Amino acid sequence: MQYFSTDRRSPEATFREAVLRGQPDDKGLYFPASIPKLPDGFIAGLNSRSNEETAFDVIRPYVGGTIPDDKLFHICEETVNFPLPLVTITDQISALELFHGPTLAFKDVGARFMSRCLRHFSTEREAKTIVLVATSGDTGGAVANGFHNVEGIEVIILYPKGRVSKVQELQLTTLGGNVTTLELRGSFDECQAIAKRALADAELQKQAFITSANSINVARWLPQQFYYFYALKQWEGGPPPVIAVPSGNFGNLASGVLANISGMPVARFIAACNANDVVPEFFETGDYRPKPSVSTLSNAMDVGDPSNFVRILEIFGRNSDDLKARTSAASISDERTAETIQDVHSNYGYTLDPHGAVAYAAISDYLKTTSDSRGIILETAHPIKFDSVTDILGIEVSAPDSISELFTKEKTVTEMDADYNGVREVILKKAK
Ligand SMILES: *Cc1c(COP(=O)(O)O)cnc(C)c1O
Repeated sequence: MQYFSTDRRSPEATFREAVLRGQPDDKGLYFPASIPKLPDGFIAGLNSRSNEETAFDVIRPYVGGTIPDDKLFHICEETVNFPLPLVTITDQISALELFHGPTLAFKDVGARFMSRCLRHFSTEREAKTIVLVATSGDTGGAVANGFHNVEGIEVIILYPKGRVSKVQELQLTTLGGNVTTLELRGSFDECQAIAKRALADAELQKQAFITSANSINVARWLPQQFYYFYALKQWEGGPPPVIAVPSGNFGNLASGVLANISGMPVARFIAACNANDVVPEFFETGDYRPKPSVSTLSNAMDVGDPSNFVRILEIFGRNSDDLKARTSAASISDERTAETIQDVHSNYGYTLDPHGAVAYAAISDYLKTTSDSRGIILETAHPIKFDSVTDILGIEVSAPDSISELFTKEKTVTEMDADYNGVREVILKKAK
């Protein structure tokens, strides 16, 4: 399997090269040269296969032999070693709970897979690898956790000061060891711009081997297909589900669409966004116009120029009619998000997090207007990660054990301006 750049001005790369580089030099994104088709009987056979077997079968063609099969199988086992249950909320809507991993968010899947791929590829190299990641909250925790104490790797995390929750901040700042956390006085978009600039800084790259663990890396992006198959495995017959995906950078949705194109049946995808509505606007007007992000309750989706959206366009050969035939998009306000959290809690006893609530509102609206009758929302994070849920419900959300432990740990973080040169200096220091 070769990967080309969506900008088409960089040479093709193998899976190994694409993982190590993160992003092609022309600043496009790596994209598989062909989308593998699932073998006949794959879907019918889901029930008789374990989650790790499904993961291995799905990812193997993408890895293209750059990791030996036995090693790849082991990586898959470690990637999905926690439950990913489909939980019924109403007779129409179920939630695929993706928050039972170590940092209680779906990004654990991609981060665990990528860290293990990078570890495998790094043992073939001598220099230290710097993993640089900008986070609006959840990515950093998942990545830091995935790479913590991995030899030969230094992790540097950038997050916007005051824009992440208490639990997220603790997950980002209490690991220590090879994890360095920088709290930048700026927005997530500024953090992301700094990370992108470092990755494209040829002078810096001469002195430090830097890679991105953001969802643009194919090893973060592609394994997110796995749990769409687990949703289907737990889906009790009938027509295929509508699936609503809370979307920010659109990596998660892009992986679902990829799984769909490779043969997984889905009635329709819904791109569920908060007030950051660049993609819903694109669906309506045909114009893709990036904007500065605005802060919302679902802060992991506060993205003004979603980096993975180009992959969705690429999957449909840049034909937006084909895209619209399979996908809808919606923008949900904070007010509606809060109402949804309240309603679903009081009517069905289920506690949504703000991201899941955006998806829930979007799919409820959609199901009212069509003959599709049932669907799935991806619950991308545990409600305990968001202080707002407690405020909205007026009750404490019950915390898993791992959270209580976090509160006993010490926070280590460096606060600085959202300034490229300051971050660059830290990178250079860590590369030595
Ligand atoms: C990252 C994140 C999202 C958005 O996922 P994308 O792949 O960036 O679209 C949604 N919900 C939560 C909880 C997240 O952490």
